[in-house]
Amino acid sequence: MSRVVMKFGGSSVATSEKMKKVSELILKRKSEYDDVVVVVSAMGKTTNNLIALANELSDEPNKRDMDMLLSTGEMVSASLISIYLNSVGHKAIALTGFQSGFKTIGEYSKSRIEKVDTERLESELNDGKIVIVTGFQGMNELGDITTLGRGGSDTSAVALAASLDASCEIYTDVKGIYTVDPRIRPKARKLEYITYEETMEMANLGAKVIEPRSVEMASKYSVPLYIALNTGDVKGTYISTEVDNLEKSAITNISKIDGVLLVSMSEQLGVDSKITECFVELAVQNINLDIISHSLDDEGKPITSFTSTVDNKSKIDSILNNMDIKHRFTEDVSKVSIIGTAMRNQVGVAARAFKVFLSENVDFYEVSTSEISISYVVDSVNALKIVNALADEFNL
Ligand code: ADP
Ligand code: ASP
Ligand code: MG
Repeated sequence: MSRVVMKFGGSSVATSEKMKKVSELILKRKSEYDDVVVVVSAMGKTTNNLIALANELSDEPNKRDMDMLLSTGEMVSASLISIYLNSVGHKAIALTGFQSGFKTIGEYSKSRIEKVDTERLESELNDGKIVIVTGFQGMNELGDITTLGRGGSDTSAVALAASLDASCEIYTDVKGIYTVDPRIRPKARKLEYITYEETMEMANLGAKVIEPRSVEMASKYSVPLYIALNTGDVKGTYISTEVDNLEKSAITNISKIDGVLLVSMSEQLGVDSKITECFVELAVQNINLDIISHSLDDEGKPITSFTSTVDNKSKIDSILNNMDIKHRFTEDVSKVSIIGTAMRNQVGVAARAFKVFLSENVDFYEVSTSEISISYVVDSVNALKIVNALADEFNL
């Protein structure tokens, strides 16, 4: 039996006209596959608008109610598409995350999928219906509606594909995965194939084209993933375990994250337990840290620094003040990363990247590496320039 899960992001279902358009592609797939499940995001900027509305009413809206609020966005788009498909003579049904069997665990606003009970879905599919599922949501053990974190509809789609033994097609507003976000580098190249590992790394390092958790899940359950333009008439990007290409260049992608916060602590840390206390407290308060570095200044005093995101600034400030730790913030910084599995076997990649910084006369605050990536923290004003210069150097 052939099955496909198709996911459409917010921009693909932003208006009723766009819903009609994606319905054509849904019906095309229904003529090719036995079963079609569609996962949708909220229309256009709905999620942002709902967040703004809540913020007009409260400085700190409670997360349980926020999840209930945000889940409505996906309910609107799923039901509208089902209404349309039925009106043009096709059997379709819209289901919420709960009705589709998504059981979640963890905190509101960033819940994780524990399992998907597909009984209801299977019975609707057996009945010949196209099932339209609301992305980004499920239900926890208390019976409350939960959401999966921004961009979570990708994860809903992959989880369904894994549970239903289907392939997964993610439709969006670009033609596939590019060497660089085509909105910041129009001459970037679309990739025909890319590995799960590289996609996961680039998603984690800022490429918003797909949500990182969904790629991790696809890799874990070997779900075939395909990313393409929502019209369905241009070949997109296939994501798989290995990409067999002798010509493969050292670097596959360059990604960028803005809104990075650099925190430098010049207290007498390291020698005593204060550094541990500090990181424990940051973790207790759920603050995500990234590049941590520890070095000695000219006088031999330890300096510890880390990066986080600007939205955590006031929380970090009060934690460090409470602990009497002298600190300094550097804002308006970005993280620029070069990514590629071929980096493992090729020497000189870092040297080439460093040369680019030198010739562009751009300084960086921090540099960190993984097996398949190198990330630089730079002033945001220089980020675009360095992304393009690196892309030129690596022919991306
Ligand atoms: P959707 O609403 O369909 O989920 P997103 O806005 O989340 O769409 O993701 C699509 C966007 O991802 C594109 O418009 C593009 O600007 C951005 N993007 C970032 N990096 C890349 C990349 N390497 N390749 C393609 N798109 C990218
Ligand atoms: N609507 C949610 C968001 O905007 C989920 C998604 O689009 O994947 O983050
Ligand atoms: Mg998205």
